[in-house]
Amino acid sequence: MAENKLYEILGVPRGADEQTIKKSYKKLAKEFHPDKNPTAGDKFKDISFAYEVLSDSKKRRVYDQYGLKGVQEGVGEGRMSTDDIFSDLFGCGGGLFGGLAGFGGGMGRRKPTRGEDTVHHLKVTLEDMYNGKTTKLQQSKKVKCSACGGLGGAEGAVVRCRGCRGVGMKIVLRQLVPGLSQQIQTPCEDCQGTGEVINEKDRCTTCNGKKIISEQKILEVHIDKGMQNNQKILFRGESDQMPGCQAGDVVILLQQKPHDVFQRNNDHLHMTTKIGLAEALCGMDIIVRHLDGRHLHVKHPAGHIIRPGDIKAIAGEGMPQYRNPFEKGNLYIKFEVTFPEDHFASEQVLKQLESVFPPRPKLKIPKDSMEVDLEEYDPDHNTSSSRTGKSYSSDEDEMQGQPGLSCAQQ
Ligand SMILES: [Zn+2]
Ligand SMILES: [Zn+2]
Repeated sequence: MAENKLYEILGVPRGADEQTIKKSYKKLAKEFHPDKNPTAGDKFKDISFAYEVLSDSKKRRVYDQYGLKGVQEGVGEGRMSTDDIFSDLFGCGGGLFGGLAGFGGGMGRRKPTRGEDTVHHLKVTLEDMYNGKTTKLQQSKKVKCSACGGLGGAEGAVVRCRGCRGVGMKIVLRQLVPGLSQQIQTPCEDCQGTGEVINEKDRCTTCNGKKIISEQKILEVHIDKGMQNNQKILFRGESDQMPGCQAGDVVILLQQKPHDVFQRNNDHLHMTTKIGLAEALCGMDIIVRHLDGRHLHVKHPAGHIIRPGDIKAIAGEGMPQYRNPFEKGNLYIKFEVTFPEDHFASEQVLKQLESVFPPRPKLKIPKDSMEVDLEEYDPDHNTSSSRTGKSYSSDEDEMQGQPGLSCAQQ
């Protein structure tokens, strides 16, 4: 398991002391320096790299334990403490859950990770998306304990757990049946899987050695004009902080509440309005209260008919475009025409009314025609089909005699 390559490059034994390593490096560097030995460029680089690692006690320790991969994972950058190295190697949280995956997958294979993002759903009105709004959101978030600087205790009080050598996991043999046992990983009970221990008396009293504390934080969410449903607003690095890893983002996911009047389709707005027959035929005037409180006086001149289901557009009265709010989509109005009640006018008035409409088509009534009544159609209780069914069972002769009629009735 132990990797020896860097020692071999420098031609020293694994346990060699600093002096030996330095001496050997100097000798080899002279020998293979590109000025003297132009064909040995790579060899010189290897020597330099091996020395860089082995001459640095921290990097050397990582190399001895995790090999080249451990060094390449950024462990040798010198800005992290050994504790950070462990949490980085084993994923965020550095503890039990991150440790399981990291340990099983081979040491140092994982890149230093980010914490999880926190997603908040924020309900907003269409008015907010039209006008823009700033909302304050209170967030409970875990932050590095400032009392101990995220160490969990006084400097030096945190020590690597001996039981698991700082890994947080132990491999134990479990007997399945006599003679057959299985190697399993379990979290180290000495350190609860964290890989480190702090003496009770040295523990930070603010975070109780947990390194993080909960904090209430106010996020100011700017809902810009024209933002869309499901649009995300990111707060980089504002999610929970964990020791030794980069905090994730807080993601605000906008959720538009349904609006009583308007439906939105990208930058366009749609609405439906009911008008009477007089407005449909003789000119129309309606007031639409817009999302910013303005009243639009919508006029349609007499002589232009509005038919049921017609859709008309008002240019530039839709939603503002995101990041270009002076440009707006259109407002589309769909018209439903409400017809008058039965008997809304006397027969005499109806005759007068009819005189202004285009004349009826001339009707030729065949001699053998038969008068029938129209009934209301009820989709749940279809009277005409039940009557047809009855005819079939009781009046078969009649039906056979007049097949044309039965068709017409249906
Ligand atoms: Zn332990
Ligand atoms: Zn603390």
